[in-house]
Amino acid sequence: MTQTTQDTAPAAEHPHAAQVRTLLILGASGDLTGRLLLPGVARLVATGGAPGVHVVGAGSDGWSQEQWRQRVEDAAAGAADDAGDDGKSALKDLAVDTSYHRLDVTAKGELPELLRSLEGPVAVYFALPPAVSQKACEVLTAEDLPAGTRLVMEKPFGSSEDSARELNRTLASLVPEDHIHRVDHFLGKSTVFNILGLRFANRILEPLWDNNHIDKIEIIFDEDLALENRARYYDKAGALRDMIQSHLLQILAVIAMDAPATLNERDVRDGIAAVLRASSVRGPYARSTRRARYTAGQLGDRSVPAYVDEDGVDPANDTETLAEVQVSVDNWRWAGVPFILRSGKALGSARKEAVITFKAVPHLPVGLKGIDRPTSLHIGFGPDRLELEVDVNGPGDIFTLDRVSLEADLSGSKLLPYGEVLEGVLTGDPLLSVRGDTAEECWRIVDPVLAAFKAGTVPMDEYAAGSGGAADWPARR
Ligand code: NDP
Repeated sequence: MTQTTQDTAPAAEHPHAAQVRTLLILGASGDLTGRLLLPGVARLVATGGAPGVHVVGAGSDGWSQEQWRQRVEDAAAGAADDAGDDGKSALKDLAVDTSYHRLDVTAKGELPELLRSLEGPVAVYFALPPAVSQKACEVLTAEDLPAGTRLVMEKPFGSSEDSARELNRTLASLVPEDHIHRVDHFLGKSTVFNILGLRFANRILEPLWDNNHIDKIEIIFDEDLALENRARYYDKAGALRDMIQSHLLQILAVIAMDAPATLNERDVRDGIAAVLRASSVRGPYARSTRRARYTAGQLGDRSVPAYVDEDGVDPANDTETLAEVQVSVDNWRWAGVPFILRSGKALGSARKEAVITFKAVPHLPVGLKGIDRPTSLHIGFGPDRLELEVDVNGPGDIFTLDRVSLEADLSGSKLLPYGEVLEGVLTGDPLLSVRGDTAEECWRIVDPVLAAFKAGTVPMDEYAAGSGGAADWPARR
């Protein structure tokens, strides 16, 4: 039997772990830190979400203290407009009370020495290239880490089921599983809670939420951005690895899970893991999956070159920019219902939603005409929205059915996605972090598809940048 991280992890500490005092960001000069992490921290601080936390930067660059402080100050300035007096004062402290340390995280002893000098508990954020993060963890030992240390790992977490398991083993030898935060910033707290609240606080939905009443579920993440100078990362990843392997499978699991008894991390993450264990993509992959790559086109008023002509792209990598997979969830509730996950870049319009399509009614009273589509429920992400499309009688002809849409905005978060992630890290709540066994399951689900893509079993279709996708793919709506 496969041993999972759950089997190997040291016993968890008390569920209400101590508030983190220092956030140590490794990779302080990097893109993630500047563009997403520090703005996320700043907004969190501005809303009173991280009282007394110090941010410390570290990296291999010889940055001056002033350069780093300026980076933190810029992030603080970006969050100041919406902050009250307390928030403004906390943002000021954030930028004053920070420091930068030069170190090579892969050199034995350098990171432990820095950790010993910081006020604990410390959360160590690995905003580093994945191979460097892995190496950094391999040179650490449990004794190097002060009590209460939390490790925050970015995606991609490994590159296959085997490598994710190996990385899990390394991490499990350092800290307990509930001190490991595998980040998936799409799993924002408000999005997860919005789906769970909608499903489990409304009696009209849950009795219909199964294969007796639901025909199919589509989870779509279409981006209207092209490569945007990210070839170094994306050309080795592609749409399947970048989006479907992580974010979309997590959303699938929240939509398909059984009702948790509580919203604590154990109940919610157990529910997510149970769905993913039951999930797979069935072959033949030329039927259950699709892939395509954009050709030159127009995104709004911008001309976009073909993907293979973008700077830094190596056509030999054969990278897809649009992928679609049909996932089967083989349990009592979902057997027979296709979950279609699609994501891609350079599409004509951005679309981020799950569409739950119900089965047609078993009998339409004779005399009523014109059901055009079965009832469908759209759950939009970022901003979170709800749209229920139903058929109602006419205007004009009362015997003819028309389509109407009932719409509502769901609650958003005051925080940026990375602020939501960091709030969990700093308060010691792993609810929104991907659990070790789940990270392995996600790779187990997509590994055979990646192999089929690599072997060329699934044809590479094309679509013009700015279009709705490959012409002969089924329309998703
Ligand atoms: P960058 O290449 O921009 O930054 C990497 C950072 O790591 C640099 O500051 C670099 O410093 C530092 N570094 C590299 N080697 C060492 C070392 N041996 N010791 C100390 N520091 C080192 O990468 P990103 O910021 O884009 O990505 C970081 C992580 O976040 C990756 O895992 C990525 O997959 C993930 N991610 C990134 C997103 C993004 O939008 N950027 C989005 C989601 C996830 P130096 O330049 O001096 O070497």
